[in-house]
Amino acid sequence: MKISQRTQQIAPSPTIGMAARAKQMQRDGIDVISFAVGEPDFPTPDHICEAARQAMADGHTKYTPASGIAELKEAIVQSMQQEFGLTYDPSGVCVCNGGKHALMNIWQALLDPGDEVIVFAPYWVSYTEQIKIVGGQSTVVMTDADSNFQPDLDEVRATVSDRTVAMLIGSPCNPTGAVYTRRTIEGLARIALDHNLTIISDEIYKNLIYDDGQHFGPAMLSDEVKQATIIVDGVSKTYSMTGWRIGWLIGPDEFVSKVSSIQSHQTSNPNSIAQYAALAALTGPQDCVGQMREQFQRRRDYLVPALQQIAGLRCPKPAGAFYVFPEVTAHLGTELAGQRIDNSLQLAEYLLTQAHISTVPGSAFGAEGYLRLSFACSLDNLREGVQRLHQALEG
Ligand code: PMP
Ligand code: GLU
Repeated sequence: MKISQRTQQIAPSPTIGMAARAKQMQRDGIDVISFAVGEPDFPTPDHICEAARQAMADGHTKYTPASGIAELKEAIVQSMQQEFGLTYDPSGVCVCNGGKHALMNIWQALLDPGDEVIVFAPYWVSYTEQIKIVGGQSTVVMTDADSNFQPDLDEVRATVSDRTVAMLIGSPCNPTGAVYTRRTIEGLARIALDHNLTIISDEIYKNLIYDDGQHFGPAMLSDEVKQATIIVDGVSKTYSMTGWRIGWLIGPDEFVSKVSSIQSHQTSNPNSIAQYAALAALTGPQDCVGQMREQFQRRRDYLVPALQQIAGLRCPKPAGAFYVFPEVTAHLGTELAGQRIDNSLQLAEYLLTQAHISTVPGSAFGAEGYLRLSFACSLDNLREGVQRLHQALEG
């Protein structure tokens, strides 16, 4: 059967793929420790599940407006005001089927074929593939552990071409956990304004910043930058609601109204019951957010020093999200248990098949020489996983 040329270039998501392989091995009776999956391991808090049951009992089981129910948009706008002092109108919000879908909507509304988007590597696997799906082009600017994964502003400026229309900022970052400094955000925003670029700010991990660090997004800089920025967020990571599929974008009314039109044809509204659950998440008690963050921080504080003990791993401490991204180049170009390991994919394969630990190779994030490990799993699993890693890499 015919498959379009554009589609032929699209690879499946390696994060979802690795997590699925680990699950399959577990079903086959193999005791795999999964560091691959990028989703909180906590149950969705009770009061949120209860709101979903109540929504069904109240008959909220029909189509809603394509861009989401008014109450949820109002709650999103209120939380932006309360948390960051940012004023939006509910008409500047479109609720989507997850943050991933919000991003996809943005590319569809923003990009013409050949348009370029500046993307910082290591990047989340779906950014570049989504841009490809709509015929756009990613211009990748590399960052590294030495500079705490902050982009070099001169390099970014030099990357802008007459086809560049947007810049995608993800802070806290998946896969590095890096949080951009205010200086970085200011510098990037300056470049965006100078070249009339739209800033897409993926803030899905904004509530997972450790050591009392504060989130700072480009829209907080000035009204001018806010007007050029589209924020992507959702309930998946903050409230452990990955399966509910509720995310959103916030931006200038005119752009958001176009996105809503696209969505009205493509998916109609996001799930009505899940929207009421998301409403309860945003308007209900927030202690669950702090409690989960505390757990993640405890895990990070165990994991980073433990990985630093393993020969050949260089592991910066992530300031946010729930990933570590150790550099593993010392193990590449070597043999482990008689197996030749030349790249991060082979290393991840080796760790999965020989040590029964699933990780995601750095190459999936545009950064060869690294592995991504998620610490969204219990401390016991982390301890066992570290021990296996130790044995697999040091013998
Ligand atoms: N952005 C980043 C960086 C992510 O890691 C994820 C998680 N998959 C998303 C967006 C989208 O999450 P969701 O679609 O579950 O809202
Ligand atoms: N964001 C998560 C990850 O990176 C979930 C899987 C995905 O959507 O890519 O693992």
